[in-house]
Amino acid sequence: MRRFLIALLLLAPALAQAPSQLIPNLTLVKEQVEHWVSSGEYARECETINARARAYLEANLAGVKRPALVLDIDETSLSNYPLMLSEDFGFEQARFDAWVAAARTPPIPSTLELFRYAESRQVACFFITGRGEALRESTEKDLRNAGYSDWEGLYLKPEAYKESSIVGFKSGVRRQLTDQGYEILVNVGDQMSDLEGGYAQSFYKLPNPMYFIP
Ligand SMILES: [Mg+2]
Repeated sequence: MRRFLIALLLLAPALAQAPSQLIPNLTLVKEQVEHWVSSGEYARECETINARARAYLEANLAGVKRPALVLDIDETSLSNYPLMLSEDFGFEQARFDAWVAAARTPPIPSTLELFRYAESRQVACFFITGRGEALRESTEKDLRNAGYSDWEGLYLKPEAYKESSIVGFKSGVRRQLTDQGYEILVNVGDQMSDLEGGYAQSFYKLPNPMYFIP
């Protein structure tokens, strides 16, 4: 028994994982993401979550005077995946701005479906986005070209907003809408920072293994 314990103690350092082994390999992660998207799995996950959001809306609309739906834009309503792929998953603000200016960002189809359902039920739809106020015109065009129309409000991050987290801005807008008498039944985003901070009855998190926004 004693000999066994000594052997175990000698082996222990070799069995422990080096810190680098806990980090996924970047090349392999990119390949995994590409497969996840090209196999249709990404779209299916979004469909499942948006269907839950729709079911909640449907079940909770009765008797609500000013029902509202809040959507984030990037990787929630629109997909920048073609840009990310062409940039090998890097991000450069100038290239992103040019991409938005081209206004050809495809929609996430199941979110567009949720949006259209909400409008058919007289639910007011609001976009709250981390895109800067300078991108307002091109973002409106981008949304329209993707099939979105007749939204009630579009809130872009003010140029003066310098907090490290987007939560303050996004929850602040939801609070403002609530103060105006809207009841936000559903809030959909791809980052937890789209959803934290309250002022929504329910929230739905779409998948995004590509980037993180605090
Ligand atoms: Mg987003």
